[in-house]
Amino acid sequence: MHANEATRSWNTQIDHNHPLERIPKVLRTADCFLNLNPAFAVMPFKRNVYEQAIYQEPAPIRNHENPFQAMVKRFDIASRILELDPGFYEYLTMPSRIHITAVPVQMDDGRIKVFQGYRVIHNDVLGPGKGGIRYAPDVSLAEMKALAAWMTWKCAVVDVPFGGAKGGIKCDPGKLSPGELERLTRRYTANLIDVFGPDRDIPAPDMNTNDQIMAWILDTYSMHARRTASAVVTGKPISLGGSQGRREATGRGVMTVTMAALNRLGLKPAECSVAVQGFGNVGSIAAQLLQERGCKIVAVSDVIGGYYNPGGLDIPAMMDYAAAHNRRLEGYPNAEPISNDELLTLDVDVLVPAAKEDQITSENAPRIRAKIIAEGANGPTLPGADDILQANGVLVIPDILANAGGVTVSYFEWVQDRQGYFWGLERVNKRLIRMMKTAFNNVFETANKYDVTLRTGAYVLSVDKVAQALKLRGIYA
Ligand code: NAD
Repeated sequence: MHANEATRSWNTQIDHNHPLERIPKVLRTADCFLNLNPAFAVMPFKRNVYEQAIYQEPAPIRNHENPFQAMVKRFDIASRILELDPGFYEYLTMPSRIHITAVPVQMDDGRIKVFQGYRVIHNDVLGPGKGGIRYAPDVSLAEMKALAAWMTWKCAVVDVPFGGAKGGIKCDPGKLSPGELERLTRRYTANLIDVFGPDRDIPAPDMNTNDQIMAWILDTYSMHARRTASAVVTGKPISLGGSQGRREATGRGVMTVTMAALNRLGLKPAECSVAVQGFGNVGSIAAQLLQERGCKIVAVSDVIGGYYNPGGLDIPAMMDYAAAHNRRLEGYPNAEPISNDELLTLDVDVLVPAAKEDQITSENAPRIRAKIIAEGANGPTLPGADDILQANGVLVIPDILANAGGVTVSYFEWVQDRQGYFWGLERVNKRLIRMMKTAFNNVFETANKYDVTLRTGAYVLSVDKVAQALKLRGIYA
């Protein structure tokens, strides 16, 4: 079967109107089954509760594109180049396991509220599943599937021995008290106790989850295991087995691959200007580290808007300002306000989208003037913009390479937890930089070999690695 036929056959399997038809039967967890079981639905005393809790998929997809289909579009290109076995193609476009679970929480006012929880393991041929957990009102299965697949490719690009996974709970964490958040996290973990494990699937923080939430996951899992199982989760507080350098790791990785790209293009950091979209963990650290290496950061932004100073911004001062103003830059005095759209199209050498997905589209791509885009965020560029950027000669360092520093240090954390021996910051940073440079060079050489973009090169490299492992392991009958 041709690659595209395989996609179509999978689509017709899942894109069916009835929610039950969207998940292969064998993949439903017991909790999910209870929610969907029609027999349960007709119990009159449960009917309202059932109606509230029923699985609703898909949730509205942000902007224009189903994120899983965006992932498949890039995967398709790599598969064609590799002439991937059609059976492998079909297997790798299908998550290996999807868990959907009802997470009941007793709220502070005594009511019981049920949240929808997800964990998707896209593929674990290279090792246990690895991927973050996000809490957000628009968490959806399509998004979880895309993010889990991206984790498979990302782990393969940087050569860490993990498969790809992602999880989330559809909730508005801003509206939950600390106690509700803790009960939500613990029940989600308990529901997925047989899914998680240091050798099975290892969660980490993602959007709206942090080291405290990872500490609750560690504790819940450890209570069930009757031992402290530090390696079950990464991104933990350092006092509970977290790694030095994890917080800054993604930004440090973005800086490392950006410097490598400047070097390849023969550009000197001291002569380069940079704009960074998003001033959270990834964006602010990337801006700080690029500035330390001599680049001039002329613009940064957050969800409210951007700040521009052609003479260069004082990034440490802006970090202090954001820390003192609820992580926002609003009102920062020493720069000119600009919009996020203006920031993306500034005349700079390097653009770092480090906020969220779907920011660079076929509409704004023709106006982008940067020579290099280093994708700090996951999925900031829609597939429709890829060809435009390529035609305009923009070198895009794709997300599965550019932001892989986080999972690399998560891997170090997992190794340290299993050894019970912890490394100093210098060792963590040195090893991170070495792995990111090696990954960049491997992607660059693959892209040159096939005469393709770095994004396609990264996909070719990672899909090939996963396919080779699959071939060696064989298909268990
Ligand atoms: P964060 O919440 O710390 O920061 C996000 C920043 O983006 C904030 O400044 C926010 O105000 C801003 N923002 C949100 N919406 C925006 C918009 N529409 N326009 C402009 N700015 C906007 O998140 P983070 O951890 O820095 O993650 C940022 C991106 O990087 C996400 O796509 C995430 O998936 C990805 N990522 C993060 C890590 C990590 O280790 N933190 C690792 C890999 C990938």
